[in-house]
Amino acid sequence: MGLIVQKYGGSSVADTDRVKRVAERIVRRKRAGNQIVAVVSALGDTTDELIELAKKITDDPPKREYDMLISTGEQVSVSLLAMAINELGEDVISLTGSQIGIITNDLHAKAKILKVNPERLEQELTQDKIVIVAGFQGVTFDNEITTLGRGGSDTTGVAVATALGADLCEIYTDVDGVYTADPRVVKSACKLNEVSYEEMLEFASLGAEVLHPRSVEIAKEYGIEMVVKSSFYCCPGTYIKEVGELEKDIVVTGVTCNGDTVKLSLIGVPDEPGIASRIFTGLAEDGINVDMIIQNVDYDGLNDITFTIDKEDLDHAKINLKGLQGELGYTELIYDTEVTKVSIVGAGMVTNPGVAAKMFEALADEDINIDLISTSEIKVSCLINEERADQAVKVIHDKFNLERLCDSNV
Ligand code: ADP
Ligand code: ASP
Ligand code: MG
Repeated sequence: MGLIVQKYGGSSVADTDRVKRVAERIVRRKRAGNQIVAVVSALGDTTDELIELAKKITDDPPKREYDMLISTGEQVSVSLLAMAINELGEDVISLTGSQIGIITNDLHAKAKILKVNPERLEQELTQDKIVIVAGFQGVTFDNEITTLGRGGSDTTGVAVATALGADLCEIYTDVDGVYTADPRVVKSACKLNEVSYEEMLEFASLGAEVLHPRSVEIAKEYGIEMVVKSSFYCCPGTYIKEVGELEKDIVVTGVTCNGDTVKLSLIGVPDEPGIASRIFTGLAEDGINVDMIIQNVDYDGLNDITFTIDKEDLDHAKINLKGLQGELGYTELIYDTEVTKVSIVGAGMVTNPGVAAKMFEALADEDINIDLISTSEIKVSCLINEERADQAVKVIHDKFNLERLCDSNV
């Protein structure tokens, strides 16, 4: 008998028929002799709809109230799924993040899970119940409800698997695995049978929304194997795990893009030690992640500093940076929201020169201008105009001949 932690995304439970189908799937696994904990997202587009509701009231909802609101979607889906399982004759209980004790820090809207208390979960499992857990939410030490950032139910799944000592966390979604590019954008993209934690972390952080980045981080840290599978078809899926040296033969594993990004420039920043530290410490203290950073050459003792952040952080970043203008003495803050970051990822890049050049060539051939570039050992990212995003992903996919991975994969 195994302990299986499963996670079902919003599209897998988009309506009551799909909820019933997920219930049947869970009950089949239970009756095959397993203990099941299923983490569930809100039905379909519920979270988007809740956010729209908030926007009708205010452009800047207090973060605590925002989390109170958007965490409700998952309470609907867990209770409906528990009812459907109950109808099938199995003992089941649904639990919220707070009922279990999923403890997070107090960074509302993108909280980090600090620990998951296993006691309640274990107690219910001992009574032979199926346990349905509300994804995406937790509670601070002060008992305030938090959410984990968009797509955060994957992270709930892996954190619960870690707390219970499960060896595998199954992520059920609307695609049958992780592909060399978003299969909605690149029709010839190939499903990968295996991806290393490192590559998957880059993929997820760079915009492949199929997994929440933090879920991969936790899985890697605690050695939890993940598998991404379709909740509609019975396919083997993609395994995320430590993979051997051989995999490094594949130089580029995939291409991804992230349009939830915005470019900010501080013009005329005094060229003095400590200035960059002051800017980026301030943003970090506000929980704003900064990504690509460049500082241009000095002119008359002044610099321009350009960087990217998530679009959702723009309003707070503007307030934060405007507040520093007197102290820093920069002349102007400008920003561009019509940008996209397109990236290639591959463990084999470390040992293969010329990969970045090949990517730039693919973009140049299509006359796509590169605004900013950043690299790490296993990724290269370019900031481009968002209108060219899909085209850029397709030409890069072609340039690296990623279709061939379909054959090497089977
Ligand atoms: P869920 O609601 O199940 O959490 P998501 O919408 O968050 O599902 O993630 C699944 C989507 O991720 C897919 O429909 C697909 O369009 C998108 N996606 C982006 N990049 C990739 C990729 N490289 N491989 C697979 N899916 C991807
Ligand atoms: N319902 C949340 C969202 O839409 C969490 C999730 O689906 O993972 O972001
Ligand atoms: Mg998701």
